[in-house]
Amino acid sequence: MGILIVDDSADDRLLVQSILSAAGYDHLLVADSAAAAFRLLGLDDGKHSASRIDLILMDIVMPEMNGIEACRQIKAVERFRDTPIMMVTVKTDPVDLQLAFAAGALDYIAKPINKIELLTRVRSVLRLVHEIERRRAREQELLEVMRQLQEANQMLLRLSCLDGLTGITNRRQFDDFLDQEWRRAVRELTPLSLIMLDIDRFKSYNDILGHTSGDECLKQVAAAISGAVNRPGDLVARYGGDEFVVVLPGTRTDGAAQVAETLRQRIESLGITHSEGGCTTISVGFASMIPSRNTSPTDLIKAADQALYQAKQEGRNRSKQAGVLSLVPHSHED
Ligand code: GH3
Ligand code: MG
Repeated sequence: MGILIVDDSADDRLLVQSILSAAGYDHLLVADSAAAAFRLLGLDDGKHSASRIDLILMDIVMPEMNGIEACRQIKAVERFRDTPIMMVTVKTDPVDLQLAFAAGALDYIAKPINKIELLTRVRSVLRLVHEIERRRAREQELLEVMRQLQEANQMLLRLSCLDGLTGITNRRQFDDFLDQEWRRAVRELTPLSLIMLDIDRFKSYNDILGHTSGDECLKQVAAAISGAVNRPGDLVARYGGDEFVVVLPGTRTDGAAQVAETLRQRIESLGITHSEGGCTTISVGFASMIPSRNTSPTDLIKAADQALYQAKQEGRNRSKQAGVLSLVPHSHED
């Protein structure tokens, strides 16, 4: 703990110094004037003092600059804002003390110096400094913990939106996204397309080649679909099992048909050998609508799902558009 003693009286400096060093305070600095103190603190040339100062004991009555003005000037410097200054003075009338406190002094000790009083006051101020530092360090630790928590929360949020196996958007996030895009399309009277696709005969792939190979296949298919869907507003998600969905906002039937066929070809051209021979393929169903308040996202999902069922029925490895009837909006208007 560094203590700076500022006093123009050599006797008083020596007395304070000897009391403090006898009590075990061995890091003492002394100055015989405010100017000398400023030099030690690095206030005169802006250079920081090499030694750390935890407490300043400041005489009030000194020639040139008095202790109260010196206290004010030290306290005006940002890095000494929290350094306690204790006045050591013969001037103990309330007016002088009030001025000292107004200048930023924390406490005072009356001269002539009483050894017990000096040590008690110094000890309690230094304990306070130590406590403040401990709390500040704790605050920093807490801030760091909060930052890490925020990071972890963001990561959790990201993970809660992603499918654990394939790393693409999961079903939950897809539902939210479709809902949101649906409402936007209703407001803006824009079309919305949905593609649903499912790996052909994947059960047999799993049964014969094993679940690990099945998982690998799912990852490859997910990556290939994601890579083939380019517009920033589009979303690819794993709907569940071996089924994937693609939302295409602002896209009409012809656009959706094109993307659906591209996806089908892409997966076939991956050349993932199927357990029953040939390449692994997908069946694709798609539907497009201009959403209205009388229809719901479920209508679009049902339509695309029916088209996918049709594709499976007609022999798989093909893309099918949803029948027009399934897209007719409900009859009642509000
Ligand atoms: P279809 O051509 O009619 O789609 O036949 P299918 O055998 O693919 O039938 P279906 O789509 O109903 O089968 C889904 C299979 O996907 C069932 C299960 O073996 C497999 N599956 C679902 N989820 C996972 C998964 O996370 N990992 C693996 N390895 N397989 C999965
Ligand atoms: Mg399947």
